[in-house]
Amino acid sequence: MIDHAGNAAAFNRDKSFAEWHNETLWHVRHKRDMARNGVVDWELLREKASAIKEHTLANLHDYLLEFEKNALRNGWVIHWASGSDLHNRIILDILSEENINEVVKSKSMLTEECGLNVFLEKRGIRIIDTDLGERIVQLAETPPSHIVLPAIHMKKKEIGELFHKHLHSAPGSEDPEYLTRVARENLRIHLKNAKAAISGVNFGLADSGAIVVCTNEGNADMGIHHADIYIASMGIEKLIPGKTELPVFLELLARSATGQPITAYTSHLIKPPPGKTYHIILVDNGRADILSGNKYGEVLKCIRCGACINTCPVYRRSGGYSYGFTIPGPIGSVLAPLKNMKKYHALPFASTLCGSCSDVCPVKIDLHEILFKLRYDAVDAGSLSMAKRLMLFILDQVLYRKSLYSILGFFGTRLLKYLPSFMVYHRFNGWGKSRDFPGIPDQSFKKWYKEEIKRG
Ligand code: SF4
Repeated sequence: MIDHAGNAAAFNRDKSFAEWHNETLWHVRHKRDMARNGVVDWELLREKASAIKEHTLANLHDYLLEFEKNALRNGWVIHWASGSDLHNRIILDILSEENINEVVKSKSMLTEECGLNVFLEKRGIRIIDTDLGERIVQLAETPPSHIVLPAIHMKKKEIGELFHKHLHSAPGSEDPEYLTRVARENLRIHLKNAKAAISGVNFGLADSGAIVVCTNEGNADMGIHHADIYIASMGIEKLIPGKTELPVFLELLARSATGQPITAYTSHLIKPPPGKTYHIILVDNGRADILSGNKYGEVLKCIRCGACINTCPVYRRSGGYSYGFTIPGPIGSVLAPLKNMKKYHALPFASTLCGSCSDVCPVKIDLHEILFKLRYDAVDAGSLSMAKRLMLFILDQVLYRKSLYSILGFFGTRLLKYLPSFMVYHRFNGWGKSRDFPGIPDQSFKKWYKEEIKRG
């Protein structure tokens, strides 16, 4: 079971690091705001994007078949994967058939979700992540801590040491330009010699059977164009009806993610060039269950921009690893318990419910409302700890009984005033760890209110 509060406490032990992490993410959020302010019809675009996604999800079966038909006509090889095991197995079979033992990969949260790297490495196939951030976390042998900025938790010094160890950069260098050049030179060797390339998919266009891949470093394009075999891993929710709808999402995606007007590379892959083989794996892995559950189907509108993560005060102060799930932040706190409530029941509580995530979401997912409802689900599923259940039971008894509430309110607050502080602030009282109890007034609110009424 994931103990988010415990993980967050560990993250906050290094106060200056926690503050730096918070400020770094806030800077990205600020850039997003600037970019958003430059678009007059931003809210209209959000409405449109949300409506397009809702429509596509409501007709997903038909759009998937249309996409498959058109992609087949274009010469793609289509595979369907119900889960992560099958997804990984399909990729292994494709690579094994061609005796390929090294593959380059451009960032794909879906392959992270499916645990592809570990799966292939165990079977003797080397996988090289080619996005700079992904490469950094791969060399550090850690997962990404953010869906758009995978190495956001690492400082320049740490990256310099990592590159020195693995890529033989000059010792002690922290210069981002130099380190990027070192990474680029190394990655180019892999990209140019790759026999196979894998990438995620940002959008699948049903009307043409094409896919769209958005990157900032051009690594996906380079890998795809050098390799003889290209494999696109695509979650079934990535579909949109077609090219008419695409600009709506391209306007929103980069601005929401990094504050850029558009990603540096927006590649449309329509058909394989002569002599090359292009595969698409359409992956369900629990998505159909979320959709058919009806209750939270709207989470599948997500375009993985990361804006909700950057703005979340809990994420900024607890870091990506505290969630223990591939996708952190508010969207991860929704997706994780939908996959496994028992394991991730703490995540819906890892939120202040301030609503900032819903405000910035470009496809208008009501994230904080869903998080709130998931708390009820966690209680109904009996997933809460004994201590929390006991606390809720006591609260339930007190709040439903007016007289008990009044008596306890009167004596409890007065008693608190005289209690020695160690009885309020101790390790069993999580509430008091980072808060001061407000001063208790001499007069109760009830009494004050009655007097005010009398006074007129
Ligand atoms: S839930 Fe919305 S804000 Fe969060 S990653 Fe998805 S699209 Fe972006």
